[in-house]
Amino acid sequence: MALLAEAKRVAAEFDFPDDVVRAIGDEFVAEMNEGLEKNATTMSQIPTYVTGVPNGTEKGLYLAVDLGGTNFRVCSIQLHGDTTFSLTQSKVPIPRELMEAKTAKELFAFLAKQIEIFLKKHHEDHFEAHVRRRQTVSTPEGYRDENIFRLGFTFSFPVHQIGINRGTLIRWTKGFNIPDAIGQDVCALLQEELDLLKLPVKVAALVNDTVGTLMARSYTSPGKTGTLLGAIFGTGTNGAYLEKLSKITKPMGGEYDSSTGEMVINTEWGSFDNGMKVLPTTVYDNILDRESVNPGIQMFEKRISGMFLGEILRIALVQVMKSPTIPLFRDDDSSHNDYNSTTTVTPSSPLYMQWAVDSSILSIAEADNSVGLRALRQEIEKCLGVSAPSIEDAQAVKDIAHAIGKRAGRLAGIAVGAIVLQTGRLKNNALASSGTDAIKTSDAGDTPIPEEDIVDIGVDGSLVEFYPNFEDYMRSSLRVMNGIGPEGEKRIRIGIAKDGSGVGAALIALVAAKMEKPSDYVNELRAKLVRVQENVDGRENPADGSTSTAAAATVPESKPVAPGTEKEPVNGESKDLQPGR
Ligand code: ADP
Ligand code: MG
Repeated sequence: MALLAEAKRVAAEFDFPDDVVRAIGDEFVAEMNEGLEKNATTMSQIPTYVTGVPNGTEKGLYLAVDLGGTNFRVCSIQLHGDTTFSLTQSKVPIPRELMEAKTAKELFAFLAKQIEIFLKKHHEDHFEAHVRRRQTVSTPEGYRDENIFRLGFTFSFPVHQIGINRGTLIRWTKGFNIPDAIGQDVCALLQEELDLLKLPVKVAALVNDTVGTLMARSYTSPGKTGTLLGAIFGTGTNGAYLEKLSKITKPMGGEYDSSTGEMVINTEWGSFDNGMKVLPTTVYDNILDRESVNPGIQMFEKRISGMFLGEILRIALVQVMKSPTIPLFRDDDSSHNDYNSTTTVTPSSPLYMQWAVDSSILSIAEADNSVGLRALRQEIEKCLGVSAPSIEDAQAVKDIAHAIGKRAGRLAGIAVGAIVLQTGRLKNNALASSGTDAIKTSDAGDTPIPEEDIVDIGVDGSLVEFYPNFEDYMRSSLRVMNGIGPEGEKRIRIGIAKDGSGVGAALIALVAAKMEKPSDYVNELRAKLVRVQENVDGRENPADGSTSTAAAATVPESKPVAPGTEKEPVNGESKDLQPGR
């Protein structure tokens, strides 16, 4: 019994009253506004230069690429214009040596090559037609804008965005280290390599995964109403929402289309309340933070996201194990141990290793409501290195894990609620104008809420997708927030947005393409080709003599690519172009 009482005590440390929910909500709104007014604030509130969200009627064929960490994903997305899309994709691991390449060029040339391979494999007709047309590029008809693929580039590293398709790399993370890329425009780096391969592709948009989530949900969500917020609860947590331009009063450098009066803001809410004015905390959180690589930073994220929840649980369990009077993972109470064997913790147990406990154990603990907690006990054996854990052990793990997951969900809900309040979305609708009591809910079930009164939220990430009841915990916060309440909470629709980095990036490319002035790109490209041509013509004889007459602007006939052979190197035209640069 001592163990269960102790588990209840620890679990209670993660609870916080509804008053604190409201206080966190107020602080969240305050920090959002501060971030809209000036730079270098706790929440960055980064303008994305995306000035609208799709409504599901958009059409067209777009390309999207995603450089995230381990893989490079290339896909093409056909938007059907009826909230549905088809997606073709390929994925290649990034070669280890390119993550630490000498020059950015090496990495981006590899990425461009993958795009070429993808186009040849999946869009050969488009590709061939394009190459034929390139030979008459000097005539206005020869090079038609609509034959160019617009590409959305999801680049999940910190960038300073200066336009819809411009952004400079601040620093590498996740094991990449190519110093010469820092400070360079990653879209320009990719475009340069695409041009060298003469691919009919324009890098139209630089995409953050949160913004992609917002766009993907807005396109696929039911009804014509746009989505307000895209939120990620995965390894990390972040949100992007549609803000009124008039509220973004800090200086914005790049160009954008101001006609919609709105812009998507990437909140970077993981760093909300780094000053710890309102966030609840426990001794376990403090230990986690102190031993992390970035103490005092990402304090909201450290209480919410997948990267941290397993570690909070680990630290809490270790603290309980330290107490000589509490028999956690010890056999003092062997009568409860129906495995008829002694409970032992292996010395190499993940319990003794920082970051070694994955958050998915929280989902298993939450989901296992069986009498014997068999699934959870198996997980404890497998993932915590404890042999023959008792039911009491499992119950203690379940109680503590539940408290950690519930707190994460409640905090996540406050972020959503604060954005709903900040944007005033609950006020602008038919019901508000006819009085809130127009919403009738009965015990027999809810009256359907008219589409125009719904505030749509898109979410993505393993935590929100797989942790049981995560949405319910979010909703429990929404119900107690001032200005939302149980009535407002019912009008907030939360839906999973799959494939943000594919369809979302495509949609941002579409938005970007609409902003281009007609034939911008063709003119740009012609000018570039003329420059390259001049360089090639004026060049001294190259030492190897082999490519001296390969004119950049006269494109060699492309070899037909037989199915299944698309991985063969193409006819060397990229090499031919290099001396011209
Ligand atoms: P990413 O954020 O990299 O795009 P995910 O959305 O899949 O990827 O999130 C991965 C994170 O979610 C990891 O930190 C992992 O520990 C956690 N996670 C994965 N599965 C679950 C689960 N079933 N329950 C809770 N957390 C999970
Ligand atoms: Mg993700």
